[in-house]
Amino acid sequence: MKYNTIVIGGGLAGLVAGATLSKFGKKVLLLEQHHKPGGCATTFKRDDFIMEVGLHEMDGLDDLDSKVTLFKLLEVDKNVQFTQVPELYHLVSKNHELVFPYGTEQVKKVLTNKYPEEEKGITRYLKLISGVRLEMSKLPKKKWKKILITPFMPLFYPNIVEASGHSVGEWFDKHISNEQLKLDLAAHLGYWGDNPYTMSMFYFSMAQSGFIGGGGHFIKGGSQKLSDHLASFIEKNGGTVLLGKKASKINTENNLVTGVTFVDSFNHDLDPVTVNCDNVVANCAIPLVCDMLEEPHASTLEQKIAPLENACSLYCIYLGFKSDLTSVGVNHYSTCMMGDDVKSLKDMHPNNQGDWSNRSFIFVDYDKVDAGLAPAGKTVGAVCTVDYLKDWKDLSPDEYKAKKKMTAETLLQRLEDRFPGIKEKIEYYEVATPKTIERFTLNPDGAVYGYAQTAQQSASGRLRDNFLIRNLYFSSAWAFPGGGFTGAMLGGFLSALNMKEDEKWTSCPDNKIEDERIVSLLGRKEIDANTIELSFEKPASFNHQSGKHSILELIDPKVTELDLPYRWLKIASPPDEPILRFSIPADNSSFDKSCNLMNVGDKAIIFGPMG
Ligand SMILES: Cc1cc2nc3c(=O)[nH]c(=O)nc-3n(C[C@H](O)[C@H](O)[C@H](O)COP(=O)(O)OP(=O)(O)OC[C@H]3O[C@@H](n4cnc5c(N)ncnc54)[C@H](O)[C@@H]3O)c2cc1C
Repeated sequence: MKYNTIVIGGGLAGLVAGATLSKFGKKVLLLEQHHKPGGCATTFKRDDFIMEVGLHEMDGLDDLDSKVTLFKLLEVDKNVQFTQVPELYHLVSKNHELVFPYGTEQVKKVLTNKYPEEEKGITRYLKLISGVRLEMSKLPKKKWKKILITPFMPLFYPNIVEASGHSVGEWFDKHISNEQLKLDLAAHLGYWGDNPYTMSMFYFSMAQSGFIGGGGHFIKGGSQKLSDHLASFIEKNGGTVLLGKKASKINTENNLVTGVTFVDSFNHDLDPVTVNCDNVVANCAIPLVCDMLEEPHASTLEQKIAPLENACSLYCIYLGFKSDLTSVGVNHYSTCMMGDDVKSLKDMHPNNQGDWSNRSFIFVDYDKVDAGLAPAGKTVGAVCTVDYLKDWKDLSPDEYKAKKKMTAETLLQRLEDRFPGIKEKIEYYEVATPKTIERFTLNPDGAVYGYAQTAQQSASGRLRDNFLIRNLYFSSAWAFPGGGFTGAMLGGFLSALNMKEDEKWTSCPDNKIEDERIVSLLGRKEIDANTIELSFEKPASFNHQSGKHSILELIDPKVTELDLPYRWLKIASPPDEPILRFSIPADNSSFDKSCNLMNVGDKAIIFGPMG
């Protein structure tokens, strides 16, 4: 079996790289070890609520945003609905509040009204960040042109050069005196890193100019809609997306990649499969690739990345509320709750590592936009703060559980102090730590932004594309340009554009890998008033032992409103039965309704066995 490109990882960069290459007519195979595409850009369901794993706000979508072109090419504009966030954030600290708008003129007006003595610094800041964005859109794409332009960078790209030479803290200290203004401007810093005095002003400018220029956006129904669309786009263009399949080896010969070997993430009895290809895109974290390569490439990569520093991780509380939150005083989509000990920009980094009773956090109330995450009258929210795997990874299971409880209670009490009555409205909550992020995305340290965006590890200092082996491309938050929805998607797009030009493409046969886990419905029967039973073919090599679970995912479910098309279910049939039976509780969910509407022969995919 052969494909042109094998993409390892279904995060946004991998999905965009794969979708773009498939649009260019290349035969793409994407392997994702989780049972859903998206990596950080996914959702999960609890009770009535669709919980958004990652997205609070995605920047841009204005005229200067290259994602607009990308979204047209990949038909995202026709299939995914973006909804504009009313303002960038509401900053709240002990003696200070500010609603930070979007739009360069609007921002200038609000900030110069509040800080008239800082007008020069504010103007300079806005000019720098919008200049960086404009200059980036004009940078030559071809490698030889980039090399030619290098000596003239200060002349033609002065803002990029200025921003690249400073950390956020250094630049702010040079041009702005008022510490509160610096904090107002850096309140969103946790979306790219944890320390203003090491974070590159270049990366911060790129991200902030997108936010200020085009505002923030959410995706109706959650970011899974975007990930699902990109995955289906690959399939529509002749590619294959295999979920629950983990790449274990990148095969090489004569210093070139020749194929990828992968295993099933759930069914460990299935033999590894090897598929040949012209080239590979590694969307998984760069450090993970060391273990997939043979020598000498593994050691070369290890040495190359040894000095690099990983970015921080995040901690989240996913919240489902019984009713809307305006009555308890939540009037904004995103509230940045600054810790009491943050009085200057220098306090931000120690605060991120400090006590939970003071740690700054962001609270998002998705109900302030048409988010499509909860039934009418109910609301989904999220608390999110910078965090570190090292503070969780060595805890015993009991200590881990206790710390999750303590941290959640502390942060929720601080939310209650600000919005009295909010705790009573909580119907469901669940905590995700850096350990959770590492478990689901395999990102080492739970580093959702990859390598830290320090001046040395940013822009031209960032690892990119095929730096190790000519036909092995790196495309993720860990590579150029970096993390965040925009960084990851642009990274995937740029890799695909470079590959189109630079790669040697061979012809591939039309045949595709058959997914042995896709099975047909054999029958449906009512067990009692509250339960139906579905029986399916048993997937080949399904090593069924009693007490095991599986994920049953419906393909083309008939009802999809406010639900995800799968459930983790205990297998109801005994191991010696040649079929698999599942009991579906009647809970009036879209999944339940879809199961009731299934016809014999309809398809589902079964991930398992597990548990
Ligand atoms: C809680 C949270 C909040 C966030 N908020 C925002 C926000 O508001 N705005 C914003 O712009 N960004 C936000 N981000 C960051 C953003 O989501 C990420 O930076 C970005 O999505 C990373 O994309 P990626 O392509 O690097 O892949 P990742 O999302 O890291 O996915 C990599 C994929 O590779 C897969 N994989 C790994 N190893 C293998 C293997 N061996 N075989 C097969 N598959 C493999 C993983 O399962 C995973 O799906 C947030 C992230 C989190 C977690």
